[in-house]
Amino acid sequence: MQSLAILPCELDDNCEALREEVRAFLAETLAGVPAVVRAQNWSGSDPEFSLKLGAQGWIGMRFPKQYGGHERSALERYVVLEELLAAGAPVGAHWVADRQSGPLLLRYANEETKNALIPKIARGELRFCIGMSEPDSGSDLASIRSRAERIDGGWRLNGTKLWTSGAARAHYMIGLFRTDPNAESKHQGLSQFLIDMKTPGITARPIKDLLGGKHFCEVSFENVELKGDALIGKEGDGWGQVTGELTLERSGPERYLSSIQLLLEMIDAASKHDTHQVIEIGRLVADIATLRQMSLGVAGLLARGENPALLAAMVKEQGAQLEQRMPEVAHDLFGVQVGKTGTPLDEVMSFTVQAAPSFSLRGGTKEILRGIIAKGLGLV
Ligand SMILES: Cc1cc2nc3c(=O)[nH]c(=O)nc-3n(C[C@H](O)[C@H](O)[C@H](O)COP(=O)(O)OP(=O)(O)OC[C@H]3O[C@@H](n4cnc5c(N)ncnc54)[C@H](O)[C@@H]3O)c2cc1C
Repeated sequence: MQSLAILPCELDDNCEALREEVRAFLAETLAGVPAVVRAQNWSGSDPEFSLKLGAQGWIGMRFPKQYGGHERSALERYVVLEELLAAGAPVGAHWVADRQSGPLLLRYANEETKNALIPKIARGELRFCIGMSEPDSGSDLASIRSRAERIDGGWRLNGTKLWTSGAARAHYMIGLFRTDPNAESKHQGLSQFLIDMKTPGITARPIKDLLGGKHFCEVSFENVELKGDALIGKEGDGWGQVTGELTLERSGPERYLSSIQLLLEMIDAASKHDTHQVIEIGRLVADIATLRQMSLGVAGLLARGENPALLAAMVKEQGAQLEQRMPEVAHDLFGVQVGKTGTPLDEVMSFTVQAAPSFSLRGGTKEILRGIIAKGLGLV
């Protein structure tokens, strides 16, 4: 077995001062927002809120000042994310752009694209979506069939993306397409593209989820023509680029804090004289504390320019398990059930029970993550 080290990561005084600032801003900005709305957490979205956050300098915190960013530390950014998630702030309009599309463009896009888009991302103006999964390619992402063919001066795209969160309202997609169908292996011949969602030939059809929401979509591409500079990075390097992107997608505090509102409601409803309640809620809090240390460890490694894909997979796999256990604990301790209304605990429970199945699917299923962990540890 290979060795695995998660280096401890301390938050300095700067971070704690920033935390107070963010808390004060959120207390004022989100005053009166009901618990069941906060429960939507990072899937909740309010473009006005994103603009306000951008004006505070809390989006694009790691981006270079040259592109409208703020050059803050990875841990300062982590603290802001924690506070946003803990407060149930509606961050969905800018989350993907800030977390992964912006960093990807900074690394691989040309100067013109960076100058045009990164400042807008940092101001909270742009929504991005992630075009990876397809009808027959989810876990086995490298089997995608959507094609990008070279044409005079650019590219022509054809194919279908599936489960694309926020596609119907996104300004841009970063999409993975097959540029060489004859490559030696399925991991080769893939490339990423920056796609303006208004380009003719793109149709995003929303799909209803368990909660009745229509946040994810089927996106079809019919002879969509892009200019040559829509290619991100190098032709054929898409697989390596996507794996780096997935590390950013899997390791953040949203992977263990997206059901935090249910825990907060349980704490409010609990009695300190009920030993069963105290023990079970204590267990959940201890698990969150452990995951937080792991996730902070990943933030530290990312800040040092490493690619901690193994640790990121561990955070996501463990985080999803914890979050899916949360409604079971709420049912066991308080008898709350789906459809019951009356108290914030009832309403948040109804929401979380229906949202929870997706936690071990979105961003990579638990079985796939366990495979990555096993490989990373040299066990298979
Ligand atoms: C809420 C939500 C939001 C999403 N947003 C996006 C998005 O924005 N962009 C995007 O590109 N995708 C998105 N997805 C798609 C998500 O990434 C896929 O659902 C996921 O990767 C699984 O793919 P699949 O649905 O095709 O299932 P499949 O790959 O068909 O898997 C079905 C089942 O088989 C298991 N399985 C598959 N292969 C193996 C194996 N080798 N070993 C063991 N078990 C295996 C899986 O773990 C799973 O349980 C989203 C999904 C959800 C639920």
